[in-house]
Amino acid sequence: MDGNQEAPARMALPRRAADAAAGIRDLIAALESMVPDATSAGMIEQLRGLENLKSASAGFQARVAVAFDGQERRTQAEHGVSVSELGQGIAAQIALARRESPARGSRLLGLAKALVTEMPHTMAALETGQLSEWRTTLLVKETACLSAADRCAVDEELAADAGTFTGAGDRSVVAAARAACYRRDPRSVTQRASKAATERHVSLRPAPDTMAYLTALLPVAEGVAVHAALSRHADTVRSDGDPRSRGQIMADALVERTTGTAGGVSGVEIQLIMTDRTLFQGDSEPARLPGYGVVPGGWARGIVSRVQDRHPIGRVDVATESGRDPRDIWLRRLYTAPGTGDLVAMDSRARLFPVKHRRFIQIRDETCRTPYCDAPIRHHDHIVAWHNGGNTNLGNSAGLCEACNQTKEISGWNAMPRPGPRHPIEFSTPTGHSYYSTAPPLPGTAPRSQGPGSRRAA
Ligand SMILES: [Zn+2]
Repeated sequence: MDGNQEAPARMALPRRAADAAAGIRDLIAALESMVPDATSAGMIEQLRGLENLKSASAGFQARVAVAFDGQERRTQAEHGVSVSELGQGIAAQIALARRESPARGSRLLGLAKALVTEMPHTMAALETGQLSEWRTTLLVKETACLSAADRCAVDEELAADAGTFTGAGDRSVVAAARAACYRRDPRSVTQRASKAATERHVSLRPAPDTMAYLTALLPVAEGVAVHAALSRHADTVRSDGDPRSRGQIMADALVERTTGTAGGVSGVEIQLIMTDRTLFQGDSEPARLPGYGVVPGGWARGIVSRVQDRHPIGRVDVATESGRDPRDIWLRRLYTAPGTGDLVAMDSRARLFPVKHRRFIQIRDETCRTPYCDAPIRHHDHIVAWHNGGNTNLGNSAGLCEACNQTKEISGWNAMPRPGPRHPIEFSTPTGHSYYSTAPPLPGTAPRSQGPGSRRAA
């Protein structure tokens, strides 16, 4: 998320902890003082050397992550954490330190453990720059279905540190790993295929020009069947003289069959958040489409006029300071505090956030408020818990994903609302590090005096 950031660790870290990264800071300072070499050959040497440095630091990060995991588990055990809960919150801390999402943090920790404990040859190849972090990840992923012993054996067979993969691209690396896995344990590779089917899902991600990729990961038979049905449909209507292209017809049919309505989106709620200036005065301030991101103001006005032309298909949230009352379309006004862009808070006596508040939180936070976590909001959380005297108001609220909501409850983790624009929250972790999160900017709250190019992307 754009607004998330970390503060310089301002809690009282032990001096030793602060000194731990001194050597790394020296390395960075040495790099900063370097300039590109005067000769072309020298520049190529620099590029290669820097690549080796990246791989080596990825290898060292893996070793540090495994050591941290071991130490934290021991500490947790000493504090009486039950065996089933040992390890909780460790990946989340690694994620914050590495500026990654919690989900990626746990993949990185898994990768590190596999490398350090089961794949010493692959690890050595990483540390010596023979494999990049990405190709190392591919090898670990491909061998994930094997037992520890088989994985060790495959690691030895591949002998990545002996230069096996010199000149090999991603595909060759994957192919070599797969072949070795088949030879070692054909059954588990087959089982992996059936496990993969449980991971079927549909996802949405933004594409350029107000388009979106709707992706379905399906077992191959279903995937082929869906594609064939859409293809057949396109062929039929085209032979009846439909002027649209095959691709267009297939895309339109997918939307119509899924939403159950000819023409697509009617009856299904989509939300738009924009300023009253954008809506009524042709202002160029972009709007926000939850689940997608920023869209041009003109495009948003076009959608609104489609709403007016036909029956209401969506809901338009207008971030307004003027209180102008729109009559003819289904609008819901959000009041932003002049100058700060904060949604105006309202107290409630209820223990749970009322529906109106939950809508505000959803719109204000957009995704999980943990730094670097883009996961959808699943919990409307009290930052300071109700049972600790936390109030039910917008200031004390945060949208969190399922995993982060659980992490927050772990002993040693803390969150506090902080004063300032765009609803800052300070998260602190068991090691005494602090991380800050601010809500993404609402439409109309970016500094208006600057050109569009200097605005921070949301
Ligand atoms: Zn999260």
